Amino acid sequence: MSRRLTRLAAALFALAAPAGAQEPAPPAPAAEVVYDVDYEFRIVPTEGAAKVTITVSDPQDGLLSLRFARDPERQSDWTGSGEVLVEDRWVAWTPPKHGGELRFTVRIDHLRNEHSYDSRATRHWALVRGDALVPPARVRTDRMARARAHLRLRLPEGWSAVVPYRRLTDGRYEIDNPERRFDRPVGWMLFGRLGIVRERVAGASVAIGGPVGHGMRRQDMLAMLRWTLPTLRKVAPLPERLAVVGAADPMWRGGLSGPRSLYLHTSLPLISEDGTSPLLHELVHVWMGARSGSDGDWIVEGLAELYSLEALRRSRTLSKRRYERALARIEAKGRNVRSVVATEHASGAVSARAVGLLRELDGEIRAATGGARGLDDVVHELVGSTEPVSLAHFRALCEKVTGTKLTDFFARRELSRAP
Ligand SMILES: [Zn+2]
Repeated sequence: MSRRLTRLAAALFALAAPAGAQEPAPPAPAAEVVYDVDYEFRIVPTEGAAKVTITVSDPQDGLLSLRFARDPERQSDWTGSGEVLVEDRWVAWTPPKHGGELRFTVRIDHLRNEHSYDSRATRHWALVRGDALVPPARVRTDRMARARAHLRLRLPEGWSAVVPYRRLTDGRYEIDNPERRFDRPVGWMLFGRLGIVRERVAGASVAIGGPVGHGMRRQDMLAMLRWTLPTLRKVAPLPERLAVVGAADPMWRGGLSGPRSLYLHTSLPLISEDGTSPLLHELVHVWMGARSGSDGDWIVEGLAELYSLEALRRSRTLSKRRYERALARIEAKGRNVRSVVATEHASGAVSARAVGLLRELDGEIRAATGGARGLDDVVHELVGSTEPVSLAHFRALCEKVTGTKLTDFFARRELSRAP
């Protein structure tokens, strides 16, 4: 408290004091307050569960409390030191002075529809998103304290792991999400008796894994990434690491992206009959951060579809003729869409129409800049931004890149906000 008052007084003084040579030197900035958060996941295949322990070590008392979003269907047995308050939709934890421990159990199985899972634990493997193991939390801190987070895995004998984190020499993983104040281990994770390939591709640490016997085409995927990632890196930096995980039925037969990671059902081809690639589609989401704000889903989906095709064409995986045929087919599919903006979750025809619009936008930007700039430059800006993609944000980036207003383009009916 007294420290806060001192800082407040210093701030007021700084405001009140006239600028001049006699002004006393400002107080040195307070040293950064850091607390340690250690996550431990113990996978218990016989229970289909993960036992999660969060240990906080906080000698400077920077962390005041945490409030986790609670899913009563999946998490249970919340206990810990300090005060643990379990309510219907959230759990509030006030650790003891200098830190403490919070423990809970997560049921890993989760159905995406009647027949298939997007999270699954069996006796030989477990595939889950970190978000499910440590739910999102609101954090209250003192003096802007910052978490330094690590993850430790306790896996059954003979199991290995594919996770989107850097492994330290002591066996722990470093969890660092620069855009978050409270680092959590998010992204796709696979544990079990696995086949894994690990390699550096275009500067990124890539790990591809699937349970033994599931037909995950690790070598094919690695080859595909080796010849497509360099083309994307020319447009914007790649994430430092990429975890690609997959499994067969009864996992959901689709692809899903997460931070620095993606999931793909093992039955999906690397390139579909129509020339698009499920692997690259999800990969482009990972690269771009895969976050859409309101009215921006068509942009996120359209860019994923377009740049997965671009990566194939630029790497000469697809011939120009085949690429153009694929685009013509996509554009025909989106022909009857009236508004891309009104759709919250863009799919099928809407993302097809979005591909067409993004290509027209590329033409607009090129025309306005004498060919100096294009959609690639917009993507470069997007990859570097942590803001969710909304129509307004996207338009601002396009206009920044072009150096002029794109009023006519964005005034089109399908791009103006739905009433
Ligand atoms: Zn998508």
